[in-house]
Amino acid sequence: MILQISNYWHPGDSITIDLLPGSDLLEELKEAKRLHPQRQLKSFLLKKLPSRLVLALFSEQLLARPLQIIAQENLVPVFRQLQQWALRPAGSEGYKSAEVTVGGVNTAEISSKTMESRKVSGLYFVGEVLDVTGWLGGYNLQWAWSSGWCAGQYV
Ligand SMILES: Cc1cc2nc3c(=O)[nH]c(=O)nc-3n(C[C@H](O)[C@H](O)[C@H](O)COP(=O)(O)OP(=O)(O)OC[C@H]3O[C@@H](n4cnc5c(N)ncnc54)[C@H](O)[C@@H]3O)c2cc1C
Repeated sequence: MILQISNYWHPGDSITIDLLPGSDLLEELKEAKRLHPQRQLKSFLLKKLPSRLVLALFSEQLLARPLQIIAQENLVPVFRQLQQWALRPAGSEGYKSAEVTVGGVNTAEISSKTMESRKVSGLYFVGEVLDVTGWLGGYNLQWAWSSGWCAGQYV
């Protein structure tokens, strides 16, 4: 997943991670507080997330509190931490662990029909040397093969 995200990330960008997509944790916390006031925050969260993650993100003191003694406004940071977790990556691991390079050859300078350079006739570019990348899951290999096949019709 993080490899996929890195496809869209630019150095300096912040990213926001929702660890519980499709749910509204704040509403669920309020509801649980109303229905099960004695329940500890920890037991509520452990139903939703792995314990190592929960213990890493929140203090034991907070986790041990029954929902009834956590003020409504103090539930908001819990919600934000889990559904609007904003962070700024220090960097990527660079080319040593990259799966695609987005090679640098501008697609605007290439014929999409033949893969031939618009600037230098007889020069063809295919695959990842072009500024093309796809989602993980085979799209980059498909691009390499398909663009290679395409150029092969004209060289
Ligand atoms: C670890 C890893 C995992 C990947 N997993 C996937 C995946 O699961 N699915 C997917 O779709 N894509 C995946 N990719 C990306 C995919 O492999 C590449 O996008 C694709 O192979 C690019 O094909 P290409 O022919 O453009 O370039 P390459 O496969 O890099 O081929 C370029 C060739 O040119 C040769 N070469 C370089 N310089 C010279 C030179 N000066 N003279 C002669 N030969 C030269 C190189 O040795 C190489 O053989 C992965 C990449 C990596 C690194």
